[in-house]
Amino acid sequence: MTGKAGSASRSGTRIRLDGCAKTFPDGTRALLDTTLDVAHGEIMALLGPSGCGKTTMLRIVAGLETADAGGRVRFGEDDVTAVPIEKRAVGMVFQSYALFPNMTVAGNVGYGLKVQGVPRHQAAQRVEEVLALCQLTALAGRSVSALSGGQRQRVALARAVAPRPRVLLLDEPLSALDAALRDHLRSELAALLRRLNTTAIFVTHDQAEAMAIAGRIAVMRSGRILQIDTPEALYHAPANSYVAEFVGGANRFDGAYSDPDDSAKLVLPGGELRLPRPLTNGHAVYVRPETIAIANPETAPMTGEVTGLIFQGTHYRLTVDGVTSRAVTVDHPGRTGPKIGDRVGLEINPETILVLPDSDDQAGT
Ligand code: ATP
Repeated sequence: MTGKAGSASRSGTRIRLDGCAKTFPDGTRALLDTTLDVAHGEIMALLGPSGCGKTTMLRIVAGLETADAGGRVRFGEDDVTAVPIEKRAVGMVFQSYALFPNMTVAGNVGYGLKVQGVPRHQAAQRVEEVLALCQLTALAGRSVSALSGGQRQRVALARAVAPRPRVLLLDEPLSALDAALRDHLRSELAALLRRLNTTAIFVTHDQAEAMAIAGRIAVMRSGRILQIDTPEALYHAPANSYVAEFVGGANRFDGAYSDPDDSAKLVLPGGELRLPRPLTNGHAVYVRPETIAIANPETAPMTGEVTGLIFQGTHYRLTVDGVTSRAVTVDHPGRTGPKIGDRVGLEINPETILVLPDSDDQAGT
């Protein structure tokens, strides 16, 4: 470990999980047979609702948890499955930060190097470098108990990267912060992780956070990864209905399918939705809020009643009832919007409709 801490700067290592599952002694199958390949220098988010197995997977990578028999964890060419955490050279950042309150910022950042027995002058130099990288130089001598939440988060990150870990693991690094600060720190953390240029995996249940920070996102549910892709691909080409709803909140349109004269459509309580292609068994129809246009109810193919209206600066977010079995969310651009109680028409270009394999249950259930 001492050698690693003192070695030349590196940009992390490739991480591979092969056939990793986790069954706890009480029989809980927290993670089903999972394969994950995180490239050298990549920032990967594990995104999913509470209890889907994100933290379990992160802990298997860290060496805090062992996978069920047969699972393998590799860092680059090294099989680290049986290597204990203290020998894996991982840096960890937790939601709680777990900083030493009675130490200064520099003391916290240098702690790991001291434990590793890195020579004092070398450690001091490394601490200085990392403090500069994390824009903490001016706070080096301050006690961590006198820092803001955002500053503490940067100290936790600086402390984790000071020993030059092969892998940086972050578990909900922003969730302890209030919403306004979290929004601000999202882009700061993204920029910092890119500057650090290390392989990082971070766990979050917040899709905006995952999209802002990660190069690729693994969307998880019930112990399995449903799709791994760039934020753009997850949004524009979700693999199934669950991903479409969980990432970007696509609207599901349920209705009676009809295909007269080869023009596929759904017959809905509030009108008809023309589909881009025939609907096959086990598939469902989804529409993104921003691809629905508000139109004249006398001429539009679908109508409903506005039951919710939120001004969001660039657009109004409308809730429209009566079109399909669930309320439809519509993002309506412009400086004026309809009012609650208005009857509105909806128009949807069939080219923007997503016809997706239906997951066995839906987001939020
Ligand atoms: P959260 O976002 O709430 O932290 P998560 O996606 O990180 O959730 P995990 O912490 O990985 O989920 O937990 C996955 C499942 O495994 C959950 O059902 C959890 O209750 C269960 N679990 C976690 N640790 C243990 C344990 N030590 N013993 C038994 N079950 C466990």
